[in-house]
Amino acid sequence: MKAKSAWEIAEGTRDGSISPVETVEALFERIGEHDIEIKAFITTTKKLAIEQAKEIEKKRKAKQKLGRLAGVPIAVKDNICTQGIETTCASKILRGFIPPYDATVVKMLKEEGAIIVGKTNMDEFGMGSTTEFSAFFPTRNPRNTSYVPGGSSGGSAAAVAKELASAALGTDTGGSIRCPSAFCGVVGLKPTYGLVSRYGLIAYANSLEQIGPITRDVRDSSLMLSCIAAHDPMDSTNVGEKKDYTKFRDDVSRLKIGVPKQYFGEGTQKAVSDAIWRALKKLEDEGATIEEVDLKTVEYALASYYIIAMSEASSNLARYDGLRYGFQESSGARNWSTLFSKDRKIGFGFEVKKRIILGTFALSAGYFDAYYLKAQMVRSLIIQDFEKAFKKFDVLIGPTMPTTAFKLGEKTVDPLAMYMSDCDTVPANLAGIPAISIPCGSSNGLPIGMQIMAPSFEEERLLGVAGFCERELA
Ligand code: GLN
Repeated sequence: MKAKSAWEIAEGTRDGSISPVETVEALFERIGEHDIEIKAFITTTKKLAIEQAKEIEKKRKAKQKLGRLAGVPIAVKDNICTQGIETTCASKILRGFIPPYDATVVKMLKEEGAIIVGKTNMDEFGMGSTTEFSAFFPTRNPRNTSYVPGGSSGGSAAAVAKELASAALGTDTGGSIRCPSAFCGVVGLKPTYGLVSRYGLIAYANSLEQIGPITRDVRDSSLMLSCIAAHDPMDSTNVGEKKDYTKFRDDVSRLKIGVPKQYFGEGTQKAVSDAIWRALKKLEDEGATIEEVDLKTVEYALASYYIIAMSEASSNLARYDGLRYGFQESSGARNWSTLFSKDRKIGFGFEVKKRIILGTFALSAGYFDAYYLKAQMVRSLIIQDFEKAFKKFDVLIGPTMPTTAFKLGEKTVDPLAMYMSDCDTVPANLAGIPAISIPCGSSNGLPIGMQIMAPSFEEERLLGVAGFCERELA
């Protein structure tokens, strides 16, 4: 039987046909049964979840108003702060860190009646595309457990795909919502930069990342977005406002679609490009116009992204000194600098250390102009390229990932190959525009993701096109 959507659970909870306590209990039975194999969660919060469910049941009986996500079990990526619940970023260095506050998004979800069921696995600090760089354990792809779920929000996408949560929060710095959504066959939305508050998100690269929903369908994605988009004075880069995104129209008959040729370049699997073109034909049959577009600067997106992301990471991660948060290993250290370097040596994983060193290098005197500044200039050109394209087209469509999921272990041996696989996702982060990945067929049993991009703050348009494709491609 098909699991109920978040929308259906919320509706049923409000009208009393669904018991939130029973929903939560059934869900934890499923988690008990399947998470041994999938390993989507770092922490589960059964006791708290049942308390939250009872609270909602009490409210309903007292005829109090219930929120838009009443009784919906939601998983949260482990780089988003949850009050009283350990938040580790899948890193040893944050083991034992219990945030004293909720991130704004978590607070907003709770206000809407959502039930937090646990914290999901990820690549350490969000650095990776497979969830194998978690300091604790890798997560497996529910569609085929010999494959990775994608990353870095792999735990969130796997939990939603395996029905261990009705929806989840992920974060996307360079594709970390869209990549695992594509690999696990679910819907992942990276909102416009600034639409959703980042307050309480443990930073990897501030100028690139956004929190967004991972769901099983487009309607749930619109519901989640409606609940987390808002203006938050606690995040100075946040310019969002409350809006109902569930009213999107899936009429594509006059839509002008641009297909960036760089998204079908070398390394793109034939099965992937065939699947996207099949979908594009459907859109054309419906009256949309399709035209190829040349986004020249996108070819430099990957190089620019990795310099900017690593530079920001090197500065953000300087705060982990073995004193302020969780983990402390070298209690015998005699001075601050020994303690600092010892704890960072043991506390950070290899990939994180590598990025801190590369980022520090790119920012250092003498190299700043050649690397960081140049990367920022390329970023400006990419923004201009997208702006130009959106003068002509309503949306841009291409694959989310050039390939289907990798085998476990396949990419960890070749970091460059792993970075290359982000080529289709990082441009949207550099440009700050919204992008969604939706399921679009499969190859050898592994899902293919289609990516739709729109101008900043045009999430409603994005959801409309996604809604049409979801219906027509099913
Ligand atoms: N794979 C990319 C990286 O490693 C993106 C990660 C992310 O979006 N957090 O940086």
